[in-house]
Amino acid sequence: MHPTITDYSLDEFEHWCISKGHKPWRATQVFEWVYRHLETDINRMTNLPVNFRKTLINTFSVLGTVIKETHTDQDQTRKILFKLSDGHAIETVYIPADNDYTLCLSSQVGCVLGCRFCATGAMGIVRNLTSGEIVSQVLHVRQLTQSDTHGNIVFMGMGEPLLNSGAVLEAIQRITHADGMAWSPRRITVSTAGIVPEIKRLGELETGVNLAVSINAPDDATRTRLMPINKKYPLKQLMAALEAYPLLSRQQYITCEYVMIHGLNDTPAHAAKLIRLLNRRRFKINLIPFNTVSFGRFRSSEPEVIHTFQNLLKDAGYGVFIRNSRGSGIHAACGQLAGYSTSS
Ligand code: SAH
Ligand code: SF4
Repeated sequence: MHPTITDYSLDEFEHWCISKGHKPWRATQVFEWVYRHLETDINRMTNLPVNFRKTLINTFSVLGTVIKETHTDQDQTRKILFKLSDGHAIETVYIPADNDYTLCLSSQVGCVLGCRFCATGAMGIVRNLTSGEIVSQVLHVRQLTQSDTHGNIVFMGMGEPLLNSGAVLEAIQRITHADGMAWSPRRITVSTAGIVPEIKRLGELETGVNLAVSINAPDDATRTRLMPINKKYPLKQLMAALEAYPLLSRQQYITCEYVMIHGLNDTPAHAAKLIRLLNRRRFKINLIPFNTVSFGRFRSSEPEVIHTFQNLLKDAGYGVFIRNSRGSGIHAACGQLAGYSTSS
């Protein structure tokens, strides 16, 4: 198996060039091709000497993922199923909107946290993705959609990004690097189930990326029932970590994600508790109607129930958005990603 160029930082790649007797600035040229021009065919990197290109081709692959299948839903949401070099599969979702788009990236194959409502959680953890496999998802989708603008990147696909912080942070550095894709950190959101020490660490790094937290229930008993990680990091600790997370501008909020499950967390009493929990802090709230998964007995809250819940939170002064499922026709909606083909 060849190593992948997208797994290297510019520094590391310069060192590799030097170690093989090439000029260090060849690394910058390669990175410009990959990250600026989205060119991943080494043969087309025409300003590189032919012998250097040959060495690169014999030593590396550029991307860490291969597209296996793509599916497009009626609402134009696209799910891309990728194969990794060891045969595992992950999914990335492209969600277009008026003049904008959102890319939903995976950070792990599976997830160890086993939230009761989530298809990725039901898989268990298989392994962490490398930084190159994360960056490759972005490069592939940009090539595929021929987008020359920067949409939003959300780490809301398969996996818990803060249990793979090393690779996720490296990938973010590569995506935001001024000499490369120069993606604004303001357009990147890391979503976590609430890994308290990692939230603190991410905050201290002051990367400027947005944080989303899957709160999903306003009290410890309900939350532990839905999300076993709540036993380890209960709401009091989680809220303290969020309180300390630096918001670098007046426009920045922490997003509270809340999956609406019939009869479980969706009553006015739950809304009142959630308002007390959030305690006027700088949150915006995304209500996500539960998407069906193939196991368990949960179902989504009724639309009227969701509206009542929304209005109660709005009356308390929060911006509250209902994230209607995109891509549910192709099993690409939140919580439905499990790395399997929908055509087989
Ligand atoms: N592990 C991270 C990011 C991936 S999950 C996290 O938990 O935040 C992304 C979002 O999908 C989370 O907010 C999660 O609560 C939500 N989700 C999971 N399963 C779902 C389902 N079946 N229906 C709707 N949303 C779901
Ligand atoms: Fe993992 Fe997030 Fe799914 Fe929970 S909701 S099992 S943390 S991917």
